[in-house]
Amino acid sequence: MNRLILLLALLTAPALAEPTLTLSPVRGGVYLVEDGFYAAENSAVYVGRDHVTVVGATWTPQTAALLVGEIRKVTILPVTEVINTNYHPDRAGGNAYFKSIGAMIVSTRTTRNLMVRDWDKAVAWTRSGLPAYPALSAVLPDTVYPGDFSLQDGKVKALYLGPSHTQDGIFVWFPDEKILYGNCILKEKLGNLDFADVAEYPNTLRKLKALNLPIATVIAGHYAPLHGPDLIDRYLALLEAMPKD
Ligand SMILES: [Zn+2]
Repeated sequence: MNRLILLLALLTAPALAEPTLTLSPVRGGVYLVEDGFYAAENSAVYVGRDHVTVVGATWTPQTAALLVGEIRKVTILPVTEVINTNYHPDRAGGNAYFKSIGAMIVSTRTTRNLMVRDWDKAVAWTRSGLPAYPALSAVLPDTVYPGDFSLQDGKVKALYLGPSHTQDGIFVWFPDEKILYGNCILKEKLGNLDFADVAEYPNTLRKLKALNLPIATVIAGHYAPLHGPDLIDRYLALLEAMPKD
């Protein structure tokens, strides 16, 4: 093969399927994390006045380190707290790394309790579908709240409205930016319902609607990340269209 043909062959070869993790600004202090590892997930970062809050720990300590590398490109402020928005590996798998850099791991008491009881089961379930996912041990939240909580002087509000995709999943509302982080609860496809409370899920979404938050943007936890507030009704419709047995 001459050099030109070799070069053309290299240029037209399919790109190596190396996953990526990106951070991009959405509005105000809110940044979108697109973590393409394992089953791709979307998280969020809030850059506040004097510190950074990470919403969702990403899949592993390695993806967490990549995320902190991305955060360092946009701010020198310290990452002091990380919210586990449910007890599953896509929301808590990176905890060990964040702890190693001195961040607090924050969640509701229910999320911590479920992580104590069912982390290994959730990792085994993840590894059954995604064998490359590492057999991580639980690294538990060290700061827990009995229910809703607020960080960054009220600019980051965690809302628990009832069971849905899991028993414990929360939404995170950014009032200044009018952005709702929908976690694994809101997305454009039904996704995994193996841990869901399908009876309560629609009620939880109706409670969210009843809050009448002035939502401009919903960040979905999986699939396409950015949506309007209509994503709530779209997910409700998917739940209602499910065969009942
Ligand atoms: Zn998820």
